[in-house]
Amino acid sequence: MDDAAINGIKDVGSISYKALNMARSLVKPGAKLIDVAEKLEGYLREQGYGCAFPLNLSINSEAAHYTPTLGDTKEFSEQDVVKVDFGAAKDGMLGDCAFTIDLSGEYGKLVESTDLALEAAISKVRAGAEVREIGRAIAEVIGSHGFKPIRNLGGHGVGKHDLHAEIFIPNFDNGDTTTLQEGQVIAIEPFATTSNGKGVVNDSDTFEIYGFIEAMPVRSQNARSVLAEIATKYPSEPFAVRWLSNVIPSKFGLYAAIRELLVAGAIESYPMLVEAAGGIVSQSEKELLVTKDACEILTK
Ligand code: MN
Ligand code: MN
Repeated sequence: MDDAAINGIKDVGSISYKALNMARSLVKPGAKLIDVAEKLEGYLREQGYGCAFPLNLSINSEAAHYTPTLGDTKEFSEQDVVKVDFGAAKDGMLGDCAFTIDLSGEYGKLVESTDLALEAAISKVRAGAEVREIGRAIAEVIGSHGFKPIRNLGGHGVGKHDLHAEIFIPNFDNGDTTTLQEGQVIAIEPFATTSNGKGVVNDSDTFEIYGFIEAMPVRSQNARSVLAEIATKYPSEPFAVRWLSNVIPSKFGLYAAIRELLVAGAIESYPMLVEAAGGIVSQSEKELLVTKDACEILTK
């Protein structure tokens, strides 16, 4: 990366963290998920940024990829463990960071396990470090708290317009000796689940986040209008269905158009991910720049 790219990714990282932190005061029992999503996403747009992906608000055994529906009425409750995952986008530079808010008061130790696992992982980062070492550090901390790492989720490289680039950083020692490179941008994201969990997530049949694949002829006028909007406004980064209500205000009509585009192969879906045995899930994530001897945190 040249200096301009490094400055760009630092800028996006810092605004991502600012936006994420707004959730600290907004996520509380009785608050509506959609209000939090509109606040944080609106903040980035006001500041002249796009979203690297819709705000993810995943609760309890939902691990990732829930974003409010159009007209969502869901509220946070006093039993909720809420993963907030968000990032800004500008000129192809993408932010990605997350934390977990325990509204129940019962899962503080679970949340602490991913926060400390992330710190332990970050302390291992340097050019030449093997990704298995980072995974081992994560699993050790989570295990020492009495919880399980989620084995089929992990960190990743972050490229231009590419949130999951090049490298996979496991949440346990998976034997992968791939090494980190100086100048690489990565996100590390430990996920832990309670001892009744399986340590694995599955796709659910909830879909609110999609990505554009390609423009193509489609049958209905509604689908054509929605596809034109997606191709213009969200050609690279994932989008939420509710972001398209300006094109089709009717919920039924909009979701029907989305289904038609999905079946045609014009868009792809990112299903909500759920812990396989219903364990409660915590996540902590930071994006960083790998340096020769350590790293620089970008989402701070
Ligand atoms: Mn994330
Ligand atoms: Mn990530």
